[in-house]
Amino acid sequence: MQVLSQCGKVRSMSCDELVTTLSGLAKKLGSKFKKLSVETVSDLLHYYPVDYQDRRSVMPIDKVQAGEVVTIKGRIELLQAKRSFRRKTTVTEALVNDNSGSMRIVWFGNRFIQKTLKPGDQVYFSGKVHEDQFGLQMRTPEHEKVKEQSLHANSIVARYGLTKGLTHKQMRFFVSQALKKSDMQEWLPELMRSRVGLMRIDEAMRAIHAPKSWKHLRMAQKRLKFDELFLLQLRSLLTKEELLAFSSPSFEVDEKLLQHFVGGLPYQLTDDQKKSAWAMLLDLKKGHPMNRLLQGDVGSGKTVVAAMLMYHVALQDSVSILMAPTEILARQHFETLSELFADMTVGIGLYTRSFRRINGSDEALTKKQFGNLLGHGGLKILIGTHALLHDPLKINDLGLVIVDEQHRFGVKQRRSIKDRMKGDMMPHFLSMTATPIPRSASLVLYGELDVSIIREKPKGRKPIQTKIAKDDDRDKTYKFIKNHLDRDRQCFVVCPMIEDSDVIDAASVQTVFERLSVGSFKNYKVEMLTGKMKSKQKEEIMARMAAGEIDILVATSVIEVGVDVPGATVMIIEGSERFGLAQLHQFRGRIGRSSHQSFCFLFTTKESDETNYRLRIFEKHDDGFILAQHDLKMRGPGDMYGTVQSGFPDLKLASLKDVALIELAQNSAKKLFASDPNKMRYPEIWAKLDILRQKVHME
Ligand code: ADP
Ligand code: MG
Repeated sequence: MQVLSQCGKVRSMSCDELVTTLSGLAKKLGSKFKKLSVETVSDLLHYYPVDYQDRRSVMPIDKVQAGEVVTIKGRIELLQAKRSFRRKTTVTEALVNDNSGSMRIVWFGNRFIQKTLKPGDQVYFSGKVHEDQFGLQMRTPEHEKVKEQSLHANSIVARYGLTKGLTHKQMRFFVSQALKKSDMQEWLPELMRSRVGLMRIDEAMRAIHAPKSWKHLRMAQKRLKFDELFLLQLRSLLTKEELLAFSSPSFEVDEKLLQHFVGGLPYQLTDDQKKSAWAMLLDLKKGHPMNRLLQGDVGSGKTVVAAMLMYHVALQDSVSILMAPTEILARQHFETLSELFADMTVGIGLYTRSFRRINGSDEALTKKQFGNLLGHGGLKILIGTHALLHDPLKINDLGLVIVDEQHRFGVKQRRSIKDRMKGDMMPHFLSMTATPIPRSASLVLYGELDVSIIREKPKGRKPIQTKIAKDDDRDKTYKFIKNHLDRDRQCFVVCPMIEDSDVIDAASVQTVFERLSVGSFKNYKVEMLTGKMKSKQKEEIMARMAAGEIDILVATSVIEVGVDVPGATVMIIEGSERFGLAQLHQFRGRIGRSSHQSFCFLFTTKESDETNYRLRIFEKHDDGFILAQHDLKMRGPGDMYGTVQSGFPDLKLASLKDVALIELAQNSAKKLFASDPNKMRYPEIWAKLDILRQKVHME
């Protein structure tokens, strides 16, 4: 392989030189840069500013007002240092005059200032203006002597994420050296750049650190964001292509048998359920691995679609696996499917760490007994947790693997599955998630997956009634809840924090649990559930809740994942302003799973217009997609996906909000991919992609 530098430049290494080779950057500073993960010149160039200050206009001193952040330009008339006993440090004072007036500049503790500035110097000063009994002054401003080219004044200047002992001025100084030193070569084809309207990479790099105008900066951002998004799209296309190289069993569609299955359901499938099932049935026919994500709001009926596929695979003598994130969810799936397939002779097995059985029998099986049954080919559908992959179960004829409540298969998961297959065979993959993801966002996050969406809810659902509640309404709300509990219904209380903290004034699970269990609800069975508990304990509590043995469950956000508690018809969310809309929606999905009307009450600890506006939207909509779009607009993607999973792409400048640019990047990636099937024409591009993929593999 050729030696490739981070800049995508073949053979020259200037960008990969260490930052410590920059002049004036001593060893001591090197360690500071290390803290910022900046080790090479290229790292430094990619350490983009966090914001900018417009210092292009210089303010005449007589126009300056206290409280403003300004740049002035004047001659130093006086400069003197004295010891301040009150402050126990040296105070240096200067008087600066610009013909319109004069102003005092004060430095505390900076003994070097007299070495760099002298009376008579023409100097720019930028900073905030203060006023005391002697008039206006600037305290410890940034300064730069007036010369032809200016780094820190007279322009739009960049400000960086710093660490202790490093200043913006130093950053600008070293970045400007790095810009001069590096000879970044263009790696995007001219035609693509002109089609999309992108500036050259070297110019973009200069402009992102030292823009000539705001427009110049926007152009630079566009180019650099595009680069990030384009590479991600290419990576997805490459992953897709690699999967195509594997063979998978091909399952012919037998419409008659499927119709028989659908006809036996106690309800009519929705159109979206039918459409996504059909798309996947076609995938399963193709002879190479399906790699699909089924998205559907809580309660949209993803399980039955999965069941249909597994049935289809079972009819053709292959095995399917359905994995759930928790043991209790696995048990629920097992029960649902056993019921669905009650009239059909399909062997279904439940396999978790602590429990194994097969349909039609209550007997608990040992791992060995289970393995034997599987080996004899009687079991066609396996339901379980990840234990299914960790244990050395021998699964012959694996055709389809489904993960529930997960977004994609991890590299490790895939490998562990692949190792059970013969030769270059791969099973088909399906992941299912209730997290609603707008299309452009899903292109970035899951570009390598085909996506099916179930938007439509099954008919006859009663929408959950949601209400913002005031603290004064507590008694009334509690009375209302008691009324429901007395009719054998159950209630969830969701809280933002586990323990009380002095810093954040939010209701904690602990306090709310104590308050409710000895107070208003002392005659009811109240329990709590937090992420800190052992998973066995969590499972046990969730199982008791599902079985109706608990009246009120006070929990943190751990209840997010899809367990079905049909008796739960009421939910209180405390500190609801702390959650994103998409997350609130996931909570709310825990109730409303029976034919009874359900209710959700939102309490807040902090009222503001923003909070009210958001919660109103939540009151009004029960469509996860709409809520997710609002989230993305109002709070950005971090909230939505921050906790979702690993493998979240490392975007420095681009964001999931850059909808138009995402589409452009995708189109360009597709075109390029098609025009260079042998990956020979654009070596610089493929080299960049290599670097990106290596990074992901190392993570
Ligand atoms: P999720 O997509 O959240 O996993 P489930 O698959 O658990 O949703 O389905 C929620 C409930 O809706 C289940 O009780 C299921 O039996 C029911 N259901 C699924 N599809 C339909 C439909 N087309 N009509 C009526 N009820 C349905
Ligand atoms: Mg589900």
